[in-house]
Amino acid sequence: MPNKLKWPSKLQPLLLRRLYNTYAAGIPDPDLLDEIGAALWLRCEAILMVRHREFYCPDCHQKLKFAIDATDNDVVCCPGCGFSLRYDQYHQSWRHQDLLPGNAAACFSDFYQRYPALHTPEEQIIAIDTLIHSFHIDAKTQLPNRAAGNNLIEGSLSQVVAFLDQLSGIQTENDAVFHKTAETMWKRRRGLL
Ligand SMILES: [Zn+2]
Repeated sequence: MPNKLKWPSKLQPLLLRRLYNTYAAGIPDPDLLDEIGAALWLRCEAILMVRHREFYCPDCHQKLKFAIDATDNDVVCCPGCGFSLRYDQYHQSWRHQDLLPGNAAACFSDFYQRYPALHTPEEQIIAIDTLIHSFHIDAKTQLPNRAAGNNLIEGSLSQVVAFLDQLSGIQTENDAVFHKTAETMWKRRRGLL
């Protein structure tokens, strides 16, 4: 039986580029902003749900949850409609999809909690810019080990970092920090730090 559990996909970089271009040109596109904000919000929700071993029932959309110590053969049964899922099927549904929060859980959770309460396009685009330019920071060494954008935007880590490096103009100081942090990240990943 095919796995019915589907997670929100990553965002197409083209859409983000279009958003930044409209902003730079002074011609805001509220629909595009809404579309991107919603897509990122759903992606953050999925990341946080995987972290807590949760999922929405694919049949009746009730939120369901595995025990934190669940193993492959454990089953969760939806009290609303009877849909059932084994833990190994659950694991299969999100593996290799960059849905693990790693050391950037706080960035995803911050955006997830704050975004729905933001009302002006200015506030919303700043929140988006902050989120996509965040990093996974190693708790022990305080060094960046991955770009959070890799969990949110289509492409390999190097493609996403190169894309985000060009995607600038919302928060100038943040653009400079991103560039510098990305350099540190590559050094660390090459074993030079
Ligand atoms: Zn159900």
